[in-house]
Amino acid sequence: MSGRATSGARGPADGPTIGSPSGEATHVAIVGAGLAGCLLAVYLARRGMRVSLFERRPDPRTAGAERGRSINLAISARGLDALSRIGLAEAVLSTALPMRGRQIHNERGHTAFAPYSADGERAINSISRSGLNDTLLAAALASPAVSVAFEHRLVRVAPGSCTCEFETPAGPVVVEADIVIGADGAFSAVRSRLQSAPGVSYRQDYLACQYKELTIAAQDGQYAFRPDALHIWPRGGSMMIALPNPDKTFTCTLFWPPTGPDSFERVADGPSALAYFEQRYPDAAQVMPTLAADFEANPVGNLVTIGCSSWVADGRVALIGDAAHAIVPFFGQGANAAFEDVVELDRCLSEHNEDWAGALSDYQSRRLPNTDAIAQMALQNFVEMSERSASRLFRLSRSVQHGLERRLPGHYVSRYELVSFSTIPYAEVVERTTAAAQARSVARGLAALAGDLLRATVRGRGED
Ligand SMILES: Cc1cc2nc3c(=O)[nH]c(=O)nc-3n(C[C@H](O)[C@H](O)[C@H](O)COP(=O)(O)OP(=O)(O)OC[C@H]3O[C@@H](n4cnc5c(N)ncnc54)[C@H](O)[C@@H]3O)c2cc1C
Repeated sequence: MSGRATSGARGPADGPTIGSPSGEATHVAIVGAGLAGCLLAVYLARRGMRVSLFERRPDPRTAGAERGRSINLAISARGLDALSRIGLAEAVLSTALPMRGRQIHNERGHTAFAPYSADGERAINSISRSGLNDTLLAAALASPAVSVAFEHRLVRVAPGSCTCEFETPAGPVVVEADIVIGADGAFSAVRSRLQSAPGVSYRQDYLACQYKELTIAAQDGQYAFRPDALHIWPRGGSMMIALPNPDKTFTCTLFWPPTGPDSFERVADGPSALAYFEQRYPDAAQVMPTLAADFEANPVGNLVTIGCSSWVADGRVALIGDAAHAIVPFFGQGANAAFEDVVELDRCLSEHNEDWAGALSDYQSRRLPNTDAIAQMALQNFVEMSERSASRLFRLSRSVQHGLERRLPGHYVSRYELVSFSTIPYAEVVERTTAAAQARSVARGLAALAGDLLRATVRGRGED
């Protein structure tokens, strides 16, 4: 497929049109220069494709990061796998802080640490979202085949075509590409084009819980709490979490319901937040000097799960990342899953000799069951983090799980381990970690252990 010459033509928005001069390279327009869009640009440029990134925000390198928009993220095995394939994992990890477990804070300020893995060594990585985005954008722009246009907000992709209409400060702009990929996040404008097709089902489920970001300050130049953990203040249907930053601060996220007890409606301003924190999060309150001001200044965000039965139209318009499958953040997997999408799409392009229609069809059918699976697991993990993680019984069950992992290697592996420290497809993780499947694995493991013991005993007798 070659790029079409459209310069000078008038598009549907009746604005100036920019497009590829005729040439050999496929021209891919990626809408959204967020995490998924930038990573995909790197992968496609490696294939010799011409990539135009379009982003509605101003250039983050000059404008800075948006306030209150998840300052840091946990990146784990899936995200690192995608980054290592393009040689970026090491650079990204050099700015990350490993979190080897959860530190639970109770209402009296007492803490308990629970490692994520049986050996206590495996870690998820706290990383600056804007720093990661900048690294990916720089990697994309290092290729002469990639260009980026900021302050270009996609308004629509014209039906039956790859004609993209943008609003820009200079007026409407129309772009004609060979392929359009919507990497434009949970409220994707590209998705609107797909949703309107007959037979496409679409779901948008808001969680009865919103979020707000706050900060724990450094104390005399040191971390207020241990930096190698993800901190959780579980309080039933609500909670706060905190991830460490290299500048010795922690970024906290409150997850509270909009109304009812412990809600953003009840605690609505700085002074009431101070009083509430002193009562419910006492150890955190002591190390949050800007709490009242941050509480009033930072926005409340919504958490949404998006499900769309079709990610592809006409074999040349497709969705990736949150645009295809936004999920709630309680497994720390949204960006990891978005990066996995990129790897799968790249794999499908190889398998189909860069025939986009075949590749996109396989990409959708392979990824959809997996992203549905992580969407469900992420919802379930909210209950685990906000309610169950507070109980001694839960921590005991975690120790038992780790004991089983150590004693029955290859037989018993916990769901957390498979999601965060492997690239086993999410749908397979669900199948392998149902209560029945885990009971079968433990039974098989115990049988193998008993067999080993028996053989050792027989051998021992033979040697006597
Ligand atoms: C509170 C919170 C915590 C999270 N924590 C984690 C975590 O620990 N680990 C993890 O893996 N994931 C986490 N996530 C999820 C993660 O942030 C997303 O899954 C990830 O950012 C998805 O990347 P994306 O590129 O698909 O979308 P986005 O990051 O949303 O990027 C979309 C881009 O498209 C642009 N755009 C939107 N509309 C248009 C338009 N019309 N025209 C042009 N451009 C447009 C946007 O400006 C943006 O730059 C968290 C999310 C939240 C809300």
